[in-house]
Amino acid sequence: MNDNHGQLSAVLDQTLEVVDRVSRARRADLKLEEYGEVIYVGHGVARVKGLPGVGSEEIVRFPNDLLGMALNLDPDEVGVILLDEGPGLAAGAQARRTHRVLDVPVGEALLGRVVDAVGRPLDNAGQVRTTERAPIEAPAPAIIDRSPVTVPLATGIKVVDALIPIGRGQRELILGDRQTGKTGIVVDCMINQKDKDVICIYCAIGQRSSSVAKVIADLRDHGATPYCIVVFAPGDAPPGQLFIAPYAAMAMGEYFMHQGRDALVIFDDLSQHARAYRELSLLLRRPPGRESFPGDIFYIHSRLLERSTHLRPELGGGSLTALPIIETEEQNLAAYIPTNLISITDGQIYLTPRLFQQGVLPPVDVGTSVSRVGGKTQLPAYRAVAGDLKLSYSQFEELEVFSRFGTRLDEHTRQLLARGRAVREALKQPLYDPLPAAEQIAILLAAASGLFDDLPAETIVKASAKIREMLPAEMPRIYDLVESGEMLGDADRQELIGIAGKAVGVEWKPSKP
Ligand code: ATP
Ligand code: MG
Repeated sequence: MNDNHGQLSAVLDQTLEVVDRVSRARRADLKLEEYGEVIYVGHGVARVKGLPGVGSEEIVRFPNDLLGMALNLDPDEVGVILLDEGPGLAAGAQARRTHRVLDVPVGEALLGRVVDAVGRPLDNAGQVRTTERAPIEAPAPAIIDRSPVTVPLATGIKVVDALIPIGRGQRELILGDRQTGKTGIVVDCMINQKDKDVICIYCAIGQRSSSVAKVIADLRDHGATPYCIVVFAPGDAPPGQLFIAPYAAMAMGEYFMHQGRDALVIFDDLSQHARAYRELSLLLRRPPGRESFPGDIFYIHSRLLERSTHLRPELGGGSLTALPIIETEEQNLAAYIPTNLISITDGQIYLTPRLFQQGVLPPVDVGTSVSRVGGKTQLPAYRAVAGDLKLSYSQFEELEVFSRFGTRLDEHTRQLLARGRAVREALKQPLYDPLPAAEQIAILLAAASGLFDDLPAETIVKASAKIREMLPAEMPRIYDLVESGEMLGDADRQELIGIAGKAVGVEWKPSKP
């Protein structure tokens, strides 16, 4: 009797196990076929009923392969932000779970390409041929995986490299009112990465197509296309695309960082990103906070920028530098989004309309701009000039205000003003003309040593051009000397000033018509 009982229970156990396995398999099958129904479509968002298992940030597929991303998970419905708009997306349409979070293609194949926020090509160069993909959200590297920023990211812009130096792996905010040359700075920086082995990713968020087309053309004209990727979420795209674009760009950059390479990612600009997220949040009926932005807007930006870093050597030593751009209104740095970003980043470059109107281009306000980590990475040769330059330049800006009243000035003040004007003139730089470090140092040394004092502005411009022209022939070793990280000796300084003296003395003739 006992024996029979034992056999019976063993058979029962086996049967139960089989039933369980079958039902689990069926459930898995069913999972692939989880459908819901769209109950509302608004501008950029949809609400879906009947997807109880959907996860946060999971991709939802609508008819005609239109995509959305689940953001609000309420008990009886799901708020989805739309990544596409098109026919077939209306109340009553079917919504399908995909069981995956959004990922984008990554890898070498993207170089030279223009893609949208989901990684689909926008240029006419066909499919992006890569097998590798990466989720757009990735956890930021842990503190112990990071190492100090040690290598400079040369922008080729004198005022930045000398006074507000940026390091590889740093996050430096660029902010200013509209039309103050913000995009100009970052395009210059990308052009200057030629032959420097830095992959550049330009993420345009909510820009007009014409301005992005101009950036793409400028990059092409200066030979920067082969190492650049453009991620473009146009202003007229669904706000969901604007929201995910910077995360996608970051994922593309991270791929290169994990390969042990250096990458630079630019967000132009995060004000538009914040606005898109505010729009989506309000449409999804999340409670508004300060300036109507949702409460988690700080977290949205910090979790994005935290991903930029310099990895320690054991992890390949790659780096990902981030240059987010913010547009201020009426020079108000104390608005919500600018203050948030200032506190998240390692410093800021502030461009003012006042300097722009005076023709001081790029219009960097040296007094308000700062770089908190880049100073340690700056090539030592800059120290021969940069240290005093910032102080005397700020002093000059204060004095300049007084001198406008036409007061009589003593000789010392007059000299300070003349020096300041000369330095300001020497720091001016046209677009798309980045300078190697050695040439920057030669020009700034001439200005700092007083050679340019009392010269008219146009003579300073000509003399600077002449110094650049003479340098390769007169002192070829200076290029290697500066790049190798040596300090300038007294003899080197004298030699450089000598060359500058000749440049100021001789009449300047353009070498090309
Ligand atoms: P927006 O707010 O529209 O994005 P922005 O702040 O990005 O503008 P840019 O588009 O870079 O500004 O520049 C505005 C104008 O200023 C452009 O016409 C550009 O050619 C000019 N400009 C910017 N920097 C310089 C410079 N260093 N030298 C000469 N012109 C410049
Ligand atoms: Mg711009």
